Amino acid sequence: MFSDRLHEVEQRISEACRRSGRERSEVTLIAVSKTKPAEAVLEAMKAGQLDFGENKAQEMCAKKEVCPPEARWHFIGNLQKNKVKYVVGNAVMIHSVSSASLAEEIERIAAKKNVIVPVLAEVNIADEATKHGIGREDAISLAMAIGKLPHLQLKGLMCIAPPVEDPEENRPYFAAMRSLKEEINRLQIPNIHLTELSMGMSGDYTVAVEEGATLVRVGTALFGERSYSV
Ligand SMILES: *Cc1c(COP(=O)(O)O)cnc(C)c1O
Repeated sequence: MFSDRLHEVEQRISEACRRSGRERSEVTLIAVSKTKPAEAVLEAMKAGQLDFGENKAQEMCAKKEVCPPEARWHFIGNLQKNKVKYVVGNAVMIHSVSSASLAEEIERIAAKKNVIVPVLAEVNIADEATKHGIGREDAISLAMAIGKLPHLQLKGLMCIAPPVEDPEENRPYFAAMRSLKEEINRLQIPNIHLTELSMGMSGDYTVAVEEGATLVRVGTALFGERSYSV
């Protein structure tokens, strides 16, 4: 049952907050519903979950259309420029801005739709060849570029940490994300003040919370294993 899994994840987040002297209200749990049918989202909403994460633009829009308007949709996937039009105005936040040219395309569409888009810069914090996201060094120049775009609001940073057996292995990466956020804030770039850290997935969200995550993206631990064959 979703509600049982939600209860367990909620409990673990609360404990991680307590251990690290944080308030539970500082952390938003995003239920990653990618590949799961709208029925699964509806069940989650009945259990009180309102934030959902999707990594495909059209899949997100299709679910949004059939779910109650209280649902908040976070776009967490690699975003192609030709899909920006589906996401702007539908997602409450785009977690995966990884280049100035993508940011400019979001600006173009957001200006046309007359909306402000909260975004996060995706950082390839472990420098993995297989991952999207900017290098640590490029985060500052991306923040400066986004600061000049009137329809984007850079809220913080996002990372997808490496898959590991022991979540403690990712603690240094989560800590590095927090330092990078503080480093960018110290620069006082016009229009840029970062408050959000989107980090932590099913295997390591408690460690991410201890290191300062404000948004955790949990799929499998809430919805069960994903099947990509359907
Ligand atoms: C799929 C996905 C998640 C959730 O992963 P789980 O391990 O199932 O919790 C989180 N973030 C992103 C970007 C994802 O694509």
